[in-house]
Amino acid sequence: MQNSQYRQIKRVAVVGAGTMGSQIAAHIANVGIPCDLLDIPPTELTLEERASHLTIDSPTVRDRIAQSALDRMKSAKTRSPFYVPDAAELIRIGNFHDHAEWLADADWIIEAVVENLEVKKQVHARIDQHRRRGTLVTSNTSGISIRAIAEALSEDYQECFLGTHFFNPPRYMHLVELIPTAVTRPDLVEFSFDFAEHTLGKGIVRCKDTPNFIANRIGIFSILHAIHLMLEEGYSIDEVDAITGPPMGRPRSGTFRLGDMIGLDVLVDVANNVYENAPNDERREVFRVPDFILRMVEKGWLGEKTGGGFYQSRRGENGSEIWTLDYNTLEYAPRSEVRFDSVDRVRRIADAGERLKGLIDSDDRAGQFAWKCLSHAMRYAASRIPEISDDIDSIDNAMKWGFNWELGIFEAWDAIGAPESVERMKSEDHAIPPFVANLLYSGHTLFYRTSPKSKPVKSNADASLIDMGDGVLCLEFHSKMNTIDNPSIEMMFEALDAVERNFEGLVIGNHADNFSVGANLALMLERARNGDWEAIEAMISTFQRANMRFRLSSKPVVTAPVGMTFGGGCEIAFGADRICAAAETYIGLVEVGVGLIPAAGGVKEMAIRCLEDVPSDADVDPFPYIRRAFETVAYAKVSESAGHAKRLGYLRSTDRISINRRHHLHDAKQLVLTMAADGYQGPQPRQMFVLGETGLVRLRSEIDLSRRAGHLSDYDVKILNQLAYVLCGGNFSTPQSVSEDYLLELEREAFLGLCGEEKTHQRIEYTLKTGKPLKN
Ligand code: NAD
Repeated sequence: MQNSQYRQIKRVAVVGAGTMGSQIAAHIANVGIPCDLLDIPPTELTLEERASHLTIDSPTVRDRIAQSALDRMKSAKTRSPFYVPDAAELIRIGNFHDHAEWLADADWIIEAVVENLEVKKQVHARIDQHRRRGTLVTSNTSGISIRAIAEALSEDYQECFLGTHFFNPPRYMHLVELIPTAVTRPDLVEFSFDFAEHTLGKGIVRCKDTPNFIANRIGIFSILHAIHLMLEEGYSIDEVDAITGPPMGRPRSGTFRLGDMIGLDVLVDVANNVYENAPNDERREVFRVPDFILRMVEKGWLGEKTGGGFYQSRRGENGSEIWTLDYNTLEYAPRSEVRFDSVDRVRRIADAGERLKGLIDSDDRAGQFAWKCLSHAMRYAASRIPEISDDIDSIDNAMKWGFNWELGIFEAWDAIGAPESVERMKSEDHAIPPFVANLLYSGHTLFYRTSPKSKPVKSNADASLIDMGDGVLCLEFHSKMNTIDNPSIEMMFEALDAVERNFEGLVIGNHADNFSVGANLALMLERARNGDWEAIEAMISTFQRANMRFRLSSKPVVTAPVGMTFGGGCEIAFGADRICAAAETYIGLVEVGVGLIPAAGGVKEMAIRCLEDVPSDADVDPFPYIRRAFETVAYAKVSESAGHAKRLGYLRSTDRISINRRHHLHDAKQLVLTMAADGYQGPQPRQMFVLGETGLVRLRSEIDLSRRAGHLSDYDVKILNQLAYVLCGGNFSTPQSVSEDYLLELEREAFLGLCGEEKTHQRIEYTLKTGKPLKN
């Protein structure tokens, strides 16, 4: 038997190339592992295949399902399943009949075929004929019994078999539920846990082999309970979604838009699975799907995939409009604006727990509905211990990582106050689950023991310094969307002072979704409109100084960008000597879109980065490298992943990528400690090579060509000429060496000039209002 400590996954095979199988294969390729993707050979020719005189036996036809799935993923316009396009090359497509022998090459076989026990049993029987003994096999079933799928197979098969339930879309959803059976080898369970967490970057929740496991059991209960409640108490679909989204700490899709995204047919199947296979569930009737939904499924109104479900998008006079279903008549009407005092009151509360408490303590219709939804879901979840899980963390993590809830059920319970809410439930004659009653009876008032939060070393309105332990300090931004203004910059200096005196090194990062969306544009616009140039200049030059001090610091500084890392946020990331980026980092110098150029060292750093790529041993023209940096900034390119950011030149090939979001800050901290242990010596300010007029002339002619081709407005030309000027180090007649400070001065001058332009003000104003760039 292979020792799992030394087990390696060098090749994966995914059987079933539908929505999930294909995207799971993409994510395997994302982490650099070759993957085979197999589906069934189709039984009919398409019109194009007929026209091309192909037959049902032609290899291209037989591989078509997997090939089309791969093609679709490659051409995805948004939210690509791939970190970088060439990851797709690691996927080999085929069909399960002609290429079943490929299974013998796989170290992990993942089954993701239709959710049907009989089909799955047949597929696994065939896998068993071809795989090597001891090979790990898993199923992506959403809720079928793992034991039942493999019960007829060999002992070795059953011992190597478990569930790995990825959520859709696998690249972006953090959760993977891991479902071993009673006979799965423990070492393989451990191995799968580690592999999914550390190599695939997922958040793993261990589940028991019960219908729909954890997230879908609780999630579908919550959806269906809200729907039954709506029917009983006469709420509308619009009302329910206005209440059950962000006010309750859940995603904007609320209950019904989420239903449309999942697909009504899937919703019905998943609900039926509990109804049929959990006969002792005391809330089984909640899983009985209401008639109106069954009628919708009969009519084929399945949600987004069929163009309509609970909502429908229609062409109206002003473009597309959303219409909502009236569940009594099964007719659609324009979506109504719903207003509740309680929802208005809590909307802006940042803390999810306080928001939820504010809502359920209100006695208007929204408050009452939210309380009933929440309190039923809480009691239901608590009653599922130990049936579906032995611990509350697993249930909470499953809901946060699989359904994007801000708080898990038990975290929410702590936030609203367990003793008070249990009294309220009792006063409404609800039985309290024994697990909760015992907890309170034994004198506890909280589900989670609150660990003393590390107190910030220093803090102001926009940023804090936190001691991460082991001699590492963390600078964390916490303004809205982590925008940068004077308080954040002040804290950057404080961080450096503190690190130089008392710490080994510094991490700049946070636990938020986004590192920073850049400078506070609203304030910038106000100052520009008031002609307060002194304030703008002061802010920019201190920002530049802060970034320079970071990079030249004698102690290691590592920035940890994640999510949106735009403009000034990107420049802070550049400031450090090393970057440890989360895999999902969307980084870009986007200033041109708002009529500005980067001026906190962004242009200078792009110049440094692109020139580092110029081979030094040959007589190479550096211009194409400068042009590449110019284009990246001129088109305000934003990376679609950290890997892509390397291609765009924002990250260096040596910068680190941290695959698991939850380990990101830890990884950044470890990097600081390694640098410190290696005897870190900060870099010296460097002399930089600039092209002067020789580069400027060529960039200007490219700008001119684009203008003539109609790609640029006159104002774009003005901005891009400024960018070219800075990037080439001004108009020296020959290439030169210049200091970093000199380039920073050029950045500042160009920036201040553009700040005085009305067209820049219009761009900023438009972006602040719409979130989009204005072309003027
Ligand atoms: P899907 O219908 O999109 O794809 C299923 C694929 O399996 C199809 O391409 C089909 O041709 C193929 N297939 C059917 N029989 C086969 C066989 N004998 N051999 C090889 N391929 C075969 O389904 P999906 O949404 O990708 O779901 C796949 C699995 O993942 C199901 O168990 C489902 O419950 C689970 N799941 C789905 C989601 C989701 O959101 N779609 C989320 C989590 C888990």
